Amino acid sequence: MATSTVMELKEEVPLWIGDQPVITSTTRTISIPYDGTPVATVCEADESALERAVAAAEEGAKAMAALTLYERAEILDRMRALLARDAEEFARLIASESGKPIREARTEVDRGQQTLLASADAARGLHGEVVPMDAGPAGKGRWGITVREPLGIVAAITPFNFPLNLGLHKIGPALAAGNSVIHKPSENTPLTALRFASLTHEAGLPRGAYNVVTGDGEKVGDWLVRNDRLAMITFTGSIPVGEQIRAHAGLRRVTLELGNNSSLIVEPDADLDFIVPRAVTGSFAHSGQVCVSVQNIYLHEVIAGEFIRRFVEGARALKIGHPLDDSTEVSSMIDVDQARRVEQWINEARGAGARVLAGGVRRGATIEPTVLDDVLPHLPISCQEAFGPVVSLHRYTHLEDAIERVNSGNYGLQVGLCTQNLQTAFRAARALHYGGVIVNDVPAYRADHMPYGGARHSGIGREGPRYAIEEMTELKLICWRA
Ligand code: NAD
Repeated sequence: MATSTVMELKEEVPLWIGDQPVITSTTRTISIPYDGTPVATVCEADESALERAVAAAEEGAKAMAALTLYERAEILDRMRALLARDAEEFARLIASESGKPIREARTEVDRGQQTLLASADAARGLHGEVVPMDAGPAGKGRWGITVREPLGIVAAITPFNFPLNLGLHKIGPALAAGNSVIHKPSENTPLTALRFASLTHEAGLPRGAYNVVTGDGEKVGDWLVRNDRLAMITFTGSIPVGEQIRAHAGLRRVTLELGNNSSLIVEPDADLDFIVPRAVTGSFAHSGQVCVSVQNIYLHEVIAGEFIRRFVEGARALKIGHPLDDSTEVSSMIDVDQARRVEQWINEARGAGARVLAGGVRRGATIEPTVLDDVLPHLPISCQEAFGPVVSLHRYTHLEDAIERVNSGNYGLQVGLCTQNLQTAFRAARALHYGGVIVNDVPAYRADHMPYGGARHSGIGREGPRYAIEEMTELKLICWRA
């Protein structure tokens, strides 16, 4: 087991500002959440580093805006090639700082390359349109075209659970659009972004176009959000923080990718051979710390017994272990406090009559993959975002009831629906009030070029580079009288 080889990182990992490493006096130790082994000591941004980052990003924004779309796409392509070259190093870094099993970390690195590919494509495809001015009564003799212009500096604030790919979903389209970026990764997982910074240098990105500042959200993140020299804030994280960011951003542009308590609905004609193993992975990958992780499963009463038997068997068979061990399928949550919160929610459900069909036990930051039956729907473990390896099972007789229950909360990111009946699928897909309806798979499905984002309280705006680039550009109309 390759658990002893953590990362060979320098004593103090510096910030990255204006294409240079920057040392500060405040540091934080990053440890493997599974067993607390220290990984590295990281510098955190103080006020002077933040001012420096904004000044550098202003220069970077000018340089990016001056590049052609072709040049921006070429840089993004080079970043992708460099990420492929260093893939295993990135995977080990992600696994070490986030506690994500190395197999999943490798998938994240593969997906990061897809995000960069889609960002380069978005740069090449960025265009405006001709507006037929004379289609209105005041348009005679006039022509109109639209162009998409960069905004300036984009602040990218990201969570701990996908330290690489969720950053790239902001960095890729922002650079493709001709903006510069100040990236504030999670204080728990800053190492991947700091390592990626060296790739941006190698790829020939202009000075100041990508800057990384690390530290607490309430200090460093909030400072960025309140700074008017930053044109846009793109945030992925929890709903309470998203609400604060929106309140402090004023009239500046904001994209929010927030939480969910994802549901999977399984009709009687569903293909159980396919969906049960997918549901096991979709529920327990990264210990359920995925924004579209399966949290509630609504089972038609006809197949409920068979589904539950196979699902519980799958959950119990998952191998728990160190994140750097190749055979590990479930490792730990991000820290012991989060694991304690989930444990308490499980115990609360138990106290209210829920039956534990698998798991239910915590050891340090690890919670065993847990399956609960007979959960009261108003309990936090079902109706709030669990963000842990816990699934609540529910039964229904009529699909309309399941849809009503799934639509009843505040969340609206993605939902899964399994049926072989085309008409049922279309009818249900239209009735479900979500940003994405995934038919015949789990809500955790995501391809990196697809539009992705939440309805209701799950967010504002869409990611997927071709969609994010629109959020990160200003649409300008040029209209002239011929
Ligand atoms: P979090 O909201 O605690 O933190 C996210 C980021 O915001 C971190 O970098 C943090 O330092 C920063 N932050 C915290 N307070 C801030 C403030 N006042 N001002 C500015 N920045 C601040 O989230 P987390 O615990 O890192 O991640 C888990 C959450 O992220 C879950 O709710 C999950 O659903 C969500 N998430 C959503 C998506 C999506 O695409 N919709 C993807 C992944 C995770």
